[in-house]
Amino acid sequence: MAIDRGASVGAAFRRMRYHPPMAHRCATHADSTATHRCDGCSELLCEECVEEGHSLLFCKLCGEMALPLASGQATTSPERQRQRARSAPYSLWDALGYPLRGSGVWLFGTYVGLVALLGGLSLLPGLGLAFIFVSLALSLMLSGLLLSIVRSTANGNNELPGWPDWDFYVLLRDLLQLISVFVVSAVPVVGLLYLAGCGVVGLALGQWSLMCWLAFGVGLALGAALWVVALGSVALYDAPFSAFRLDLHLAALGVFRGSLIQVVIFLVVLTLASEILQAVVLLGLPLVGSLVASAIGTYTLFTGAHLIGVMFRQHADAADELYIG
Ligand SMILES: [Zn+2]
Ligand SMILES: [Zn+2]
Repeated sequence: MAIDRGASVGAAFRRMRYHPPMAHRCATHADSTATHRCDGCSELLCEECVEEGHSLLFCKLCGEMALPLASGQATTSPERQRQRARSAPYSLWDALGYPLRGSGVWLFGTYVGLVALLGGLSLLPGLGLAFIFVSLALSLMLSGLLLSIVRSTANGNNELPGWPDWDFYVLLRDLLQLISVFVVSAVPVVGLLYLAGCGVVGLALGQWSLMCWLAFGVGLALGAALWVVALGSVALYDAPFSAFRLDLHLAALGVFRGSLIQVVIFLVVLTLASEILQAVVLLGLPLVGSLVASAIGTYTLFTGAHLIGVMFRQHADAADELYIG
């Protein structure tokens, strides 16, 4: 009797797919593969039978801890969210709606309003010191918020997190981290201009050659890419002076490639657009102008930080290997 091997292998595969071997079937859902086992009632649990706590995973049947069956399965809720987010499709188009999604729109609106108000206040005389204090407080909050956007996105969240807690020293550290990121991203532009022998005086006198402008352009593009990678790494791989690990950041440029170019183009286009709009609108309508500029600026920062988080979660394994080792 001739056996159609192809057909029988195909049938066996289908059986395996729809009816996993007894040993790995969920106790409640016979058609689902079990991923975890309960530490309390010892039942096998599928995705549906595992409940996410604040940080740990629990059995839906008895409420005890759910432990992973295989080493690749998630042990904690953030890990599970990250795994789910990595396998779910998420395009640049989806990311563009980030600051306006769900309850995040309130935080976005509040921040835009605060920045616009501050812009308006700066036009009033006699508020010098108060203005400086409020600006500093807002910068501290913004630093904490940007790093927390990168973190929460990398952990699988596609909605804005809430305001960071007001902890002065934590926020001050976040602000210093961001300043270090800016310092590091200035290295290519300064370095290339120095190598090409182009100085600020030459620029002021209009004596910059084509070579100077070329060095300037390349330096800016490289600096923007470094800014993106360094910001993501200080948010996710918290180590002292991690912003200054140029060697790691340069290696990361090769890891992220396409996604990185996408983020850089997004940041450059929106920053230019907001500068031009601001210049045009501010001339005629200072109040509307400062509101529009604040909205575009906030949108660019929030969505940019989100895109950085998306990039790091999509390349999580390679990034972990590079920054943790
Ligand atoms: Zn249980
Ligand atoms: Zn189940």
